[in-house]
Amino acid sequence: MRRPLIAGNWKMNTDHAAAVSLAEGVAKGAGDIDKADLLVCPPFIYLESVAKALDSSPVALGAQNMYAQPNGAFTGETSASMLTDVGAEYVILGHSERRNIIGETDGMVNEKTLAALEAGLVPIVCVGELLEQREASKTGEVIAQQFAGSLAGLSADQVGKTVIAYEPVWAIGTGKVATPEQAEEVHADLRRLLAESYNGEIAEKVRILYGGSVKPGNAAELISQPNVDGALVGGASLKPDDFLGIAAAV
Ligand code: PEP
Repeated sequence: MRRPLIAGNWKMNTDHAAAVSLAEGVAKGAGDIDKADLLVCPPFIYLESVAKALDSSPVALGAQNMYAQPNGAFTGETSASMLTDVGAEYVILGHSERRNIIGETDGMVNEKTLAALEAGLVPIVCVGELLEQREASKTGEVIAQQFAGSLAGLSADQVGKTVIAYEPVWAIGTGKVATPEQAEEVHADLRRLLAESYNGEIAEKVRILYGGSVKPGNAAELISQPNVDGALVGGASLKPDDFLGIAAAV
């Protein structure tokens, strides 16, 4: 049985005081959540302070990105070992904002995924179609391409340590959530791809999160779908009550 994961992507939000207070709020309520794992992903600059605020709570810490190289002349970048050094256990990779605004390709996401696993981080690899791709009935094709490109060369053991997040781009930050049926259809496809590319045991093990306008009011229906193993939450992760409300809906 896959234990649901509720992950908060704070994006480029909060300041130092707000990040610490948000982490403290989540840590305080986490004791009441027994059916899901909790994770928060603050901006890089606040990772260490948030790690302190989460200390002795069950809430895990993650980053929103990293660079694939271990060290060297890569101005402005942050490596996987720097993330583990400050207490991060997870890293979000290939978020649609990085793919579509910063220009990250499947190849770059793939290099980062391999480097994250090598460093002992759990990668949360994001895939998702644009609205025009859905309207052109290309969702399955786009997801299969991102899946294959982002996870290329991973062993079955490495895929077993990876989390996948399905985030339809048209649902991110728009308030337009996918219906439970739309989410389940893609999640079931992803699980089939895992079974075909690796094996049935791995396919059953990997957590596949849904992301895109998840709120306390719609979380239960989404997460009760057989192949939806939790949520990657943007906007609603910025308020402890909303974030914990989503986790409580599991
Ligand atoms: C996200 O950024 O991953 C996300 C799903 O955002 P929101 O919940 O705000 O749609």
